[in-house]
Amino acid sequence: MSLLTVGSVAFDALETPFGKTDKIIGGAATYITLSASYFTEDNNLVAVVGDDFPQTMIADLNQHGVDTEGLQIRQGEKTFFWSGKYHNDMNTRDTVEVQLNVMEDFDPIIPESYQDCTYLMLGNTAPAIQQMVIERLHKRPKLVVLDTMNLWIEIANPDLMSLLKLVDVLVVNDEEARQLTKEYSLVKAAAIIKTLGPKTVIIKKGEHGALLFSEDRIFFAPALPLEEVFDPTGAGDTFAGGFIGYLAKTDDISFDNMKRAIIYGSAMASFCVEKFGAERIMNLTQDEIQARVNEFVILSAFGLSN
Ligand code: AMP
Repeated sequence: MSLLTVGSVAFDALETPFGKTDKIIGGAATYITLSASYFTEDNNLVAVVGDDFPQTMIADLNQHGVDTEGLQIRQGEKTFFWSGKYHNDMNTRDTVEVQLNVMEDFDPIIPESYQDCTYLMLGNTAPAIQQMVIERLHKRPKLVVLDTMNLWIEIANPDLMSLLKLVDVLVVNDEEARQLTKEYSLVKAAAIIKTLGPKTVIIKKGEHGALLFSEDRIFFAPALPLEEVFDPTGAGDTFAGGFIGYLAKTDDISFDNMKRAIIYGSAMASFCVEKFGAERIMNLTQDEIQARVNEFVILSAFGLSN
C-alpha cells in the first residue's frame, strides 16, 4: 500500500557523550522514509530543502525507493538546521540551535501522483502544516499517524488540538504525553489523548520500550537492551517509519497487527542508535531486520510452566 510522509528534512549537528558531528543529514521525514523503505515500495515524501542540500543524499533516498517528486528544493535558500546535545543518560537532550530557514514558510504541495495514498505519516513539523496536508488530500487515507514534539505542545497548542481531531494514531514520548495532558500516569494520559481525537496512542519510553493503547487494550514492547548506544537522534522517527511501513506492507490496522508493527518499529529504532545520524538505517538487510525482530520475541517470551 502507498505511504505518504511529510516532515522535516534537515542538517543536524549532534553531540553525545561518545562524540560530536558537524552538519550531517537528518530530519524526521528522512528517518521515517528510510526506515519505511525496508517495508514498502510505494514510499512518497513531501518536504522542503534549500539548494545546499546534497544531490547525493536525494539519490540515496531514491536508491532506497523513496519517491522525491514532493521534495521541494528552494534555490538560494538554506535547509532547516537543528543541533542537539545529549545528557549523560542519553534519554534526555537539549536543543542547542534551530535555524528554520526553508521551514519558516513551508507550503506542503502534494503531487497528483501521491493523492491516492493509503497511509499518511505526519512527521515532525508545525501542526498547521501537518493539517494542511490532510486538507489537501482529496480522499482521506485509511490511517493517519501523527508525531509531534514538546515545542509544538508549547507554542502551537490550539493548532495541535485542532489537528488531533483529524488523526487516528498519535505517537509521542512519555514526557510529551505528560506535557500534553498534564497527567503523570501514562495510562491516564493515554485515556485523555483518546478523548482529543486519536483512537490509538503510542507512548515511547526511549530505552524502556513503547506502550500501545487502543480499543481499551494495552500492549508493551520492550526496547532491546543494547551494549552500545552512540546516538539516539532519529530513533523516534525510525520507530514511526518502521511502524507505519509495516502497516502499509501488511495493510492490516487491527490491534494485533499494530502489536507486530510496534515490534518492527522498535527493531528499526534499535539499529538507528548504533551509529551517528541515519548511517545505520541506510545500510540494513532484510536478514538483519528479521534477526533483530526474533531477538525481541526471545527477549519477552516466557511460559507459566516448564
Ligand atoms: P527524534 O530524535 O526522533 O526526536 O528526531 C530528531 C530529528 O528531528 C532531527 O533529525 C531533527 O532534524 C528533527 N527536528 C528537531 N526539531 C525539529 C522541529 N522543530 N521541526 C521539525 N523537525 C525537527
